[in-house]
Amino acid sequence: MSERLGVFGGTFDPPHVGHLIAAADVRHELGLDRILMVVANEPWQKLGSRDLTPASDRLAMVRAAVAGVDGLEASAIEIERGGTSYTADTLADLAAARPGVQLYLILGADAAAGFTTWERYEDVVAQARLVVVDRPGAPVTLAEGVPWQRIAAPRLEISSTDLRRRVGADAPIDFLVPAGVVTYITEHGLYRVGR
Ligand code: NAP
Repeated sequence: MSERLGVFGGTFDPPHVGHLIAAADVRHELGLDRILMVVANEPWQKLGSRDLTPASDRLAMVRAAVAGVDGLEASAIEIERGGTSYTADTLADLAAARPGVQLYLILGADAAAGFTTWERYEDVVAQARLVVVDRPGAPVTLAEGVPWQRIAAPRLEISSTDLRRRVGADAPIDFLVPAGVVTYITEHGLYRVGR
């Protein structure tokens, strides 16, 4: 049987348990073999909005986040390709390396709502089944003509923006991110004000 591979991309600056819970729920609901947490090298829609943490640090944090979690893996595919990260290219590379693979692209509600602004989004539609993680009872409005599959899952009110703010304010992030990610952030002095 062909592999059913989930692709959950993100800036992951930093990754947190909301990302992991969404991925685990989708993997369970759809019976996916694995989900790759694909770390964006240069997320072009976020460039210029703030200083991003280097991709190598974001990858290390995602590796720490999924360590020991069955079926979730960190992927460096966009970092190894370099340059601006376009999902259409990532899906093409993944499919070329695994003939017959079935790709499932997983998006949160906000990312899904902006999907038609993505570079070559029609190519994305052609290459993967699209899965949006919706809050139960609050389905997001999605572009018409895109064949979405919705998975209702509770969304924790955790955001990377708030986590960065917390670290900068010396507030705790324990239990909002896995312990290995807390250790990495502390040891590398990430998100400290003035860095
Ligand atoms: P991000 O902020 O790190 O978020 C990663 C994913 O996690 C998003 O789908 C996000 O959905 C979801 N998420 C965030 N907080 C969550 C929570 N508490 N519970 C459940 N899910 C949560 O990454 P991003 O910068 O939005 O990028 C997402 C992906 O889209 C990346 O792979 C990026 O390369 C891709 N993208 C591609 C293009 C293109 O042109 N190809 C353009 C834009 C983005 P929400 O958005 O709902 O928070």
